[in-house]
Amino acid sequence: MAFALRASEIRKSFGGVEVLHGVDLDAAGGSVLALLGENGAGKSTLVKIIAGDYTPDGGAVIVDDTPYSSLTPIDAQRLGVAIIFQEFQDAPTLTVAENISMGRLPHRGGLVNWGEVNRRAAKILRELEVDIDPQARIDTLRVGERQIVEIARALSRSARLLILDEPTAALSQHEADRLFTFIRRLRGQGVAIIYITHRLDEVFAIADKVQVLRDGSTALLAEVKDTDRSSLIEAMVGRHLEELPRPEPLPRHDEVAPSIRWRGAASGNEFEDISLDVHKGEIVAIYGKLGSGAAEVGESAYGLHPITAGALEIKAEAVTLSGPVAAVHKGVGFLPAERKAGGAFMVRPVAENVAVASWQRLSTMGFLRRSTESKAYRRWHDRLGIRSRNDPRQVMGTLSGGNQQKVLLGRWLERNSDVLVLIEPTRGVDVGARQDIYAALRKLAEAGVAVLIATSDYEEAVQVADRVYVMAKGRMVTELTGPAVTSGRLLEASGG
Ligand code: ADP
Ligand code: MG
Repeated sequence: MAFALRASEIRKSFGGVEVLHGVDLDAAGGSVLALLGENGAGKSTLVKIIAGDYTPDGGAVIVDDTPYSSLTPIDAQRLGVAIIFQEFQDAPTLTVAENISMGRLPHRGGLVNWGEVNRRAAKILRELEVDIDPQARIDTLRVGERQIVEIARALSRSARLLILDEPTAALSQHEADRLFTFIRRLRGQGVAIIYITHRLDEVFAIADKVQVLRDGSTALLAEVKDTDRSSLIEAMVGRHLEELPRPEPLPRHDEVAPSIRWRGAASGNEFEDISLDVHKGEIVAIYGKLGSGAAEVGESAYGLHPITAGALEIKAEAVTLSGPVAAVHKGVGFLPAERKAGGAFMVRPVAENVAVASWQRLSTMGFLRRSTESKAYRRWHDRLGIRSRNDPRQVMGTLSGGNQQKVLLGRWLERNSDVLVLIEPTRGVDVGARQDIYAALRKLAEAGVAVLIATSDYEEAVQVADRVYVMAKGRMVTELTGPAVTSGRLLEASGG
């Protein structure tokens, strides 16, 4: 009988917050189920419950008609469930053969039977029709090959259900194609496959059925042949997001040269062939999933990634930025994705956080008076809507994330930066403060500042940007302007 695993009414909470609200899932031998959903939808949590890594708060996993209210990882393995994570679990300095037998090395007379280790590996690799040398050290393999070795290891323990959690995130297109060929072959051999992704294209490339999770519930379950991209997008994001308000258009300043411009620019492996421009008085977003290169393009305007081909121009001048100091010198202000790691002095007063980049201008004879520093802070407190005690001595770390972000904006404005680059400006910022930040950015654009945002949050792009460039896999996919900027278009473009 073909293998069948069913999850029924699965519930799971973390710290009192329920993230799976009674979800069902069906996996069958010889079939690929794509589990699709936005970040945070609950995909990984659901499969970790199936693999015994998490204990559910309710519901059951039913394998071959036997229900289990919870499983340990060992139970799950015994039942034939194998899960392949994005982060490798392998031992990089061992050989392929050793990895495949890891944890269950065959012994003979008290010694490891290396001949058997090698035979076992050769056999499974041959069955899988992959051309990987069992004697090769893992760390000499390409990422895609490493993934296949992990799969081989699972199958050599007679896995009947293989769960792949976003396996192509780190793969090149070529490697992803190879993985797909491989998955089809496993399906042909009767293995059940759950394939987790947030990329629409992959659903149509590989899956027989698709289940979309949204906010911990199933939003759609269908045969792939009976569905289409727009139904999947709608299920992923929900209709309400399509109605996000767009900002009022601002007057364009196309008569002056762009404040920042990339022309056919590349930086190592981070991105290639990027051409985009940001004019004064507009907010431009580069939107792409994590790993798309969007953040890296933004960071290159602050001298964090050298341009290795093509050109970067700031205010009509071709520049080679050796680092942030050179970028600041050109008038570029920068807010990094990680506030703590890059720029916010958490144990220092907010006034100091504002004044630090303008130290030379504000100080007299090498001294910066507290009163001068405080004045600098007060200049921005109201204009940026910083919600704090309005005490310049208040310590940065006591402000909420959103208000810290506003203080950092104040820093660059105090320095008269007329070009601002922000990476994931509202990551970890609550909804109310997000709207404040968007409003502050719109005001700055109105006042003539050129604002560039790199974001992996499409709602952010829709709500704040006049124009959006979409990136995937280090390349530009498309540019959207004005009313063409919608959640659906962004998701569709970035997944393609
Ligand atoms: P997905 O894989 O679809 O991106 P996850 O299953 O990882 O989503 O996460 C679903 C929700 O559960 C998210 O809100 C996430 O923050 C939360 N979550 C996941 N794992 C944990 C954990 N170990 N502790 C607390 N919260 C978690
Ligand atoms: Mg996940």
